[in-house]
Amino acid sequence: MRAYKAKSVERIELPDREARERHLHEAGYNVFNLDAEAVFVDLLTDSGTGAMSDEQWAAIHRGDESYAGSESFQNLEAAIEDVMGFSRIVPAHQGRGAENVLYGALVSEGEYVPNNTHFDTTRAHIVNAGGEPVDCPIESDPGDPFQGNLDTEAVRELANEVGAERIPAVVVTITNNSLAGQPVSIANLREARAVADELDARLVIDACRFAENAYFVAQREAEFDGESVASIAREQLSMADAIVMSGKKDGLANVGGFVGVRENDDEFYEQARQRGILFEGFSTYGGMAGRDLEAMAVGLREAVERPYIESRVEQVAELGTLLQEVSVPIRTPTGGHAVYVDAGEFLPSIPREEFPGQALVCALYEEGGVRAVELGELAFPGEDRAQLVRLCLPRRTYFRDHLEHVAETFATVADRREELPGYEIVDEPAMAELRHFSAELRPLD
Ligand SMILES: *Cc1c(COP(=O)(O)O)cnc(C)c1O
Repeated sequence: MRAYKAKSVERIELPDREARERHLHEAGYNVFNLDAEAVFVDLLTDSGTGAMSDEQWAAIHRGDESYAGSESFQNLEAAIEDVMGFSRIVPAHQGRGAENVLYGALVSEGEYVPNNTHFDTTRAHIVNAGGEPVDCPIESDPGDPFQGNLDTEAVRELANEVGAERIPAVVVTITNNSLAGQPVSIANLREARAVADELDARLVIDACRFAENAYFVAQREAEFDGESVASIAREQLSMADAIVMSGKKDGLANVGGFVGVRENDDEFYEQARQRGILFEGFSTYGGMAGRDLEAMAVGLREAVERPYIESRVEQVAELGTLLQEVSVPIRTPTGGHAVYVDAGEFLPSIPREEFPGQALVCALYEEGGVRAVELGELAFPGEDRAQLVRLCLPRRTYFRDHLEHVAETFATVADRREELPGYEIVDEPAMAELRHFSAELRPLD
């Protein structure tokens, strides 16, 4: 049951078929180029796209826009301490700003940073600091409860290979965004803590989806059966020496982020703070307006309220179930923020070089005005991986009818699947890593 009702709404419209075909053509068959106005159900990302609560909007009016020492910053500090257990923070304009502050202070040339799986901006900031990001996901089977876990043995092997002194930090990303939003168990976080201690490295938690992760722990890890999401949220973060956060995710805000540092880590805090001032803004706002600080302060408290987080994670599962009912192959169990569809399996007649994921993304828009994102050959050129399409649910935004519309759209696409074309790229940017954002394509005859 959804734990909220609508108080303010935004009209959306499904353009007619002819208009959808024209928009898609004009967008170069890349849905990043579509006007949001032309999209009916927008599942491109859950980053900063959710609905704020009436309490958040009320707090926005109380925003204290003082440059230094703003009351809104104190409110944010108090919320982070209560909800996440960190009393020293460096604010930033969004998650990657916080990553720049943190990894720039932590990582030096020639060092290695293991992570269960690096999110793309994390990887980029570690490289930017001269380091080498190393992915250490566990091997798992479909249906396993904690497929997001860190392979701590792989971290030990890395240390044996390169030397523990060249590993300044072990990172765990909860949930594991790049691995289908799969959760990490607290048992695994304890092992990560132990490995970090062995290597004399810091343990960093990328906490972007800490509330979703805590909900999964409450559901799936026997030791925490019956415990509140709020106390699990604190327990999991208590393992970390530092956290890095995007307020656009479980901050339930449209913008913002921060780094959290332990009280006794003075030198490191000071380094991070100075980088914050240099890149983000003074240390009591960090690139956010006072009202943004307020919105995130309220959002963090709401994120761990059981009725909210339950309806959030269960809505993702609900979309997964609706898709399975019309025989769409998805990754199971569904993660915390998105459903991942195996487009290679759904459109077997389109070979990898002709972008089956993008063919599905284009067909979803053409048939139902649904915007999804390709995470296959277009986004990761030349990598031998599954051809996935991600359907990401913004928080507190869509209702069951929208999810049903998405499932019906899939059913219509399935009926036409033999006719769907593959695609070729006609224009792409110089950096291959960024090509799915701006490449232009053309359907093959
Ligand atoms: C979104 C995200 C980031 C970056 O945050 P932005 O606010 O988009 O800059 C970093 N790590 C993870 C795991 C994320 O999901």
